[in-house]
Amino acid sequence: MAQEDLFKKLIAHCKEYGYVFPSSEIYDGLGAVYDYGQYGVELKNNIKKYWWDSMVLLHENIVGIDSAIFMHPTIWKASGHVDAFNDPLIDNRDSKKRYRADVLIEEQLAKIEAKIEKEVEKAKGRFGESFDEGQFRATNARVLESQSKWDDLHNRFAEALNNSDLAELKQIIEDQEIVCPISGTRNWTEVRQFNLMFSTDMGSTADGALKIYLRPETAQGIFVNYMNVQKSGRMKIPFGIAQIGKAFRNEIVARQFIFRMREFEQMELQFFVRPGTELEWFEKWKQLRIKWHQALGFGNENYRFHEHEKLAHYANAAVDIEYKFPFGFKEVEGIHSRTDYDLSQHQKFSGKKIQYFDPELNESYVPYVVETSIGVDRMFLQIISAAYHEEIVDDANGQKDTRVVLRLPAPLAPVKLAVMPLIKKDGLPEKAREIIEELKFDFNCQYDEKDSIGKRYRRQDAIGTPFCVTVDHETAGDNTVTIRYRDTMLQERVNISLLRDIILNQVGFRKLFTQLKP
Ligand code: ATP
Repeated sequence: MAQEDLFKKLIAHCKEYGYVFPSSEIYDGLGAVYDYGQYGVELKNNIKKYWWDSMVLLHENIVGIDSAIFMHPTIWKASGHVDAFNDPLIDNRDSKKRYRADVLIEEQLAKIEAKIEKEVEKAKGRFGESFDEGQFRATNARVLESQSKWDDLHNRFAEALNNSDLAELKQIIEDQEIVCPISGTRNWTEVRQFNLMFSTDMGSTADGALKIYLRPETAQGIFVNYMNVQKSGRMKIPFGIAQIGKAFRNEIVARQFIFRMREFEQMELQFFVRPGTELEWFEKWKQLRIKWHQALGFGNENYRFHEHEKLAHYANAAVDIEYKFPFGFKEVEGIHSRTDYDLSQHQKFSGKKIQYFDPELNESYVPYVVETSIGVDRMFLQIISAAYHEEIVDDANGQKDTRVVLRLPAPLAPVKLAVMPLIKKDGLPEKAREIIEELKFDFNCQYDEKDSIGKRYRRQDAIGTPFCVTVDHETAGDNTVTIRYRDTMLQERVNISLLRDIILNQVGFRKLFTQLKP
């Protein structure tokens, strides 16, 4: 199936099965804002738990906070967001559609990359076992020509971004003959900067209302609490502060479902280190974070690092972790070495000393910071697009049938087990309820007695439930049930007393966490 069709199906599936709904749908929706349904919220909470515990539980030198969304407006002046949190936008005069100029150019780069990959794949098929990919890439004329085009464009693009040269961005779009995907024309406006922060007023106008911003990142809430946490927790450098919370950005182009939203949630760690050691820590966090992603088992080849074309004003190193979404490799998480920029700026703007006395060096300094920043929603999309599968299977009568299954990692699945009486009488429903009464203290369980067993299995597959337990007439006699495994569809007969351990072994976070050793 074409990746685009797959993505459309995924969006429809998310709505049909209570994962994600468009916000304010009965009023025709609100652009790039989404609500999470009954299963979506469970998956989201499990993602947050995986992240939070991997930080706060597994590291004795990381603690968490929960700062307010509203903050003093000077914070955003100090952080540079009022002056520099901009995206370069460009409009197409014919379609009246607005685009991010940098994204249009990135897509052009991706097209050239795709061309190279196509050549490589073709050659792979031609040469079979004896194919030497490195040599092919280094010598094939068509690949070299495309690679040289890519290098030239990439260098020109990086330079334009670094110099904030908007006219040059426009020139690149013209020279590359990039067209608007809607109108198909090259009738572009100039490129302009657009600030992404939402603002609102606090207090009544009679009092002189204060213009405040909805935070575009959670990080600043950590920086302004650095001294509070360090002192009250007697934290010693190196140490980290973790936070999960909402962030808001008035995105110019909001496309691709929950990939780019105007209201979203971030999970951020700010890790404070001794100046001069930040690049070492940056490297450590890079490795640790990619392990966190890969532990979920969606295939290591689907992740890659991407170095930034342009470093943000506060950073001296930055890399993204990208995942191969149905629409290509895209950022899921950013890892940034933010230097002492933020703490120094807050020290300057607040007039308060923000320093750490290092007893080993016998000196005070403003700590350096390595940040890891990941969007909950983008991670949600990553997981659900990796988990969504359509399979042809045999149904109960030996006929071919399509099953849609969410192969969610068991610790993240919203419902851990469904308990089903084979029929709605003979005491089977009561027995099924009894099992739930026992297991509901440990797991999110669901009772289901409607329709045939086959249909009930499909329903559970579609929401990603890893285990289905069926109570039948044998159960009353020997206290056994059948347990059916989502991925293999295999069934086995087990004693009810074993259910808790079998399930716990799969749905606990322990297996994931043990893979995260530095
Ligand atoms: P992009 O280049 O995609 O705009 P960014 O580099 O601005 O992202 P960061 O500021 O590094 O993103 O934010 C950290 C993480 O927050 C991103 O990796 C992403 O997972 C998430 N994120 C950022 N913006 C959005 C958004 N509009 N919607 C959903 N998630 C977002």
